Amino acid sequence: MKIARVAATPLHLPITVEVSGRSKSTSLSLCIVDIETDDGLVGTGLTAITEEEVIASVVNDIAAHALVGMDPMRHEQIWDKLFWLLAPRGQSGYASHAMAALDLALWDLKGKALGQPCWRLLGGARAEVPVYATFGFAFFDRDELAAAARSWVERGFKRLKMTVGHHGLQRRDEPRPLDSLIAEDVQRIRAVREAVGPDVQIYIDGNCSLDYFHALSLAQRIEKYDISFFEEPVAQNDIPNLVKLRQKTSIPLAAGQNEGLSSRFRDMLVAQAVDVVQPNACITGGFTQCARIAGMAAAFNTRFANGGAWPHHNMHLHAGLANGSLVEYHSVAVDCCKLVFDDLPVPSNGVLALPEAPGLGFAPNRDRVAELAKRAGSRGAGKA
Ligand SMILES: [Mg+2]
Repeated sequence: MKIARVAATPLHLPITVEVSGRSKSTSLSLCIVDIETDDGLVGTGLTAITEEEVIASVVNDIAAHALVGMDPMRHEQIWDKLFWLLAPRGQSGYASHAMAALDLALWDLKGKALGQPCWRLLGGARAEVPVYATFGFAFFDRDELAAAARSWVERGFKRLKMTVGHHGLQRRDEPRPLDSLIAEDVQRIRAVREAVGPDVQIYIDGNCSLDYFHALSLAQRIEKYDISFFEEPVAQNDIPNLVKLRQKTSIPLAAGQNEGLSSRFRDMLVAQAVDVVQPNACITGGFTQCARIAGMAAAFNTRFANGGAWPHHNMHLHAGLANGSLVEYHSVAVDCCKLVFDDLPVPSNGVLALPEAPGLGFAPNRDRVAELAKRAGSRGAGKA
């Protein structure tokens, strides 16, 4: 079996979120990557939280030529070839996104060729994974946020994540002082805690939008609301700042969803910068590299969980590996996947059951993808 064709399709997807009878419009972008073999099998990977047209170009114009003719079952050989092709001097960013999508396509293919789901090929540690629901977006006002939290709890979710520090450092020129931004975050977190009561776990995500001073200030003011982890609290996942912050707050810290290099996770673990490492299969070099990072986390006895959304891909990693744990059921990303893929599993009582179908267990709806790809749509910042 040889690789015969590699093709990427960038998609920009408008999404409508309903809360309290009102509609909120947002959007998210993603890039799907197909690898087809000479005997007609197709595997499909995905990446996101990047510029999807750039990834499509990296795949279609550079990686595809290198992969045609290779044996798709040899994922380590291909991963290494892609690394030296796209990131030979330790570059991260677009290269790791493209490698992730290609690697996931290979694992999907491998599963189909062997008649096994990816989670079982990765180790089969468990057949279902717990999820947390990312529901709390910046486009909700305080009351809408509380209403949305209540509705997710009513739907059986006991773990909820909300964003904080939204575009903090990114929008300093407006001006938009960080102290007023985090003061509102404190009130938003209070509103959610009061809405859901003491038995629901609340997670917060700063998306690397705050400096150390304001991340610390926010952490100290919300410790009383029992926060289960503070994800990406500081800009650039700056390791010395994470170390300082972790020493000064009782809230567990999490990071890593957009990192491309496994050595960044080694550095976080050695420095004891985080309580939870969060490589994302769709970004951090696919299942192949995420499994290596999970191994490092196990050796450091540090938690390993999913940040950065795309639960239907990441669930295979967390079901497959013994130290797999929480998967992020990001509601906007899930709505995007529902537009693109058929046969997606749905969580029940906060748990996702893994499919028994070969490979990833779900596939793009080709007619819908063709239609979505044609739509010019209005481009926006699609960041999970
Ligand atoms: Mg995140």
